Amino acid sequence: MIDLRLVREHPDLVKASQRTRGADESLVDVLLAADAARREAVRRADDLRAEQKAASQAVKKASPEERPAVLERAKALAAQVKEAEEAQRATDAALREAHLAIPNVVHDDVPPGGEDDAVTLRTVGEVPTYDFPVRDHVEIGELLGAIDMERGAKVSGARFYFLTGPGALLEFALAQLAISRAVAAGFTPVIAPALVRPEPMEGTGFLGAHAEEVYKVERDDLYLVGTSEVPLAGMHMNEVLDLGAQPRRYAGWSSCFRREAGSYGKDTRGLIRVHWFDKVEMFSYCRPEESAAEHQRLLAWEEEFLQALEVPYRVVDIAAGDLGTSAARKFDIEAWFPSQGTYRELTSASDCATFQARRLNIRYRDEDGKPQTVATLNGTLCAIARTIACLLEVHQRADGSVHVPKALRPWLGGVELLTPGM
Ligand code: AMP
Repeated sequence: MIDLRLVREHPDLVKASQRTRGADESLVDVLLAADAARREAVRRADDLRAEQKAASQAVKKASPEERPAVLERAKALAAQVKEAEEAQRATDAALREAHLAIPNVVHDDVPPGGEDDAVTLRTVGEVPTYDFPVRDHVEIGELLGAIDMERGAKVSGARFYFLTGPGALLEFALAQLAISRAVAAGFTPVIAPALVRPEPMEGTGFLGAHAEEVYKVERDDLYLVGTSEVPLAGMHMNEVLDLGAQPRRYAGWSSCFRREAGSYGKDTRGLIRVHWFDKVEMFSYCRPEESAAEHQRLLAWEEEFLQALEVPYRVVDIAAGDLGTSAARKFDIEAWFPSQGTYRELTSASDCATFQARRLNIRYRDEDGKPQTVATLNGTLCAIARTIACLLEVHQRADGSVHVPKALRPWLGGVELLTPGM
């Protein structure tokens, strides 16, 4: 939810943000009209309540002759107050709806354009060359006995999988590596619930334009999260945090569920785009003025993780039209996938500024002890299924074996190579 004061004082700035997103700028006028209507309704209800109070005083003071008329007036006012309060509730709801319809205000430095207009900030590591025909991760996974897509589909349908033997061990190794690095960097590790109530889902921005992406358990009014960002933000809703000198940082592990409703026919093979995967997610709460620096820190931790996995990658600055509802700015890291001869998204770090916290009513106490809206940020440390796909492809060898990056070995019993039949 954007700051209503900003909309009142600088509507042109919010309209410009809508334009760069390719979103509807007339929604800003709808919001201003709803805000004015609500203020008018509040004023009318306040005035009528004051009149009603005066009328009740008058009843007490009235002479027996005056009494019937004065009573009549007090009764009429009571009915008008009730009506005005109902009208106010309706304007409250209309204002909230208009407010929720506007995505976060885009950061000034975000590149213009849409999905294809991300700007590459840097490319790190050399793209490997292979003197044999490269296999994709599904072929390598089958040779190693690590991935079973066929049985995944048999049991759960398309875009499901089993990780078996070395595949399952790789998942645990990546989770351990990610969590241990996060803990060393000062994050609090968290195992987060993957089923949540509507409030955190709406508060984090996943029920608006992207509601189609989300699985809902209708009978229990619960949602399956697509990322632990949702419970990690919901964890502190309606709280005032004591931030201390550092941002408050969590590394959450959860399963993630995505309907992938808009990606029909895209990435239909393997682990790149599945309906369920596990992920270690970084989540920070900080003072709004610190969020740009914290964003860079999340990005740096993501880069260090990929360097530890010995994976070539590039960092991209996502264009305004591709930001999603909550982000004011977003950096993705795309890693090299040799079977596709291209870089594909592996991590994503978003600065949501105060947008999510305003919706979820999460504040911190400033130097004067006054509660202020906090900023929230999130970044992928390891999206495990897609990372396994990338590792198998990048580190493959001619005989179907796969080099294990040094950093992962302690979590895989010290092995240097995954080999078929091991
Ligand atoms: P997001 O929370 O959408 O920014 O996604 C974080 C990371 O999860 C992405 O950068 C991908 O590596 C991974 N990811 C997203 N969607 C899927 C999916 N459907 N299947 C597998 N991995 C995914």
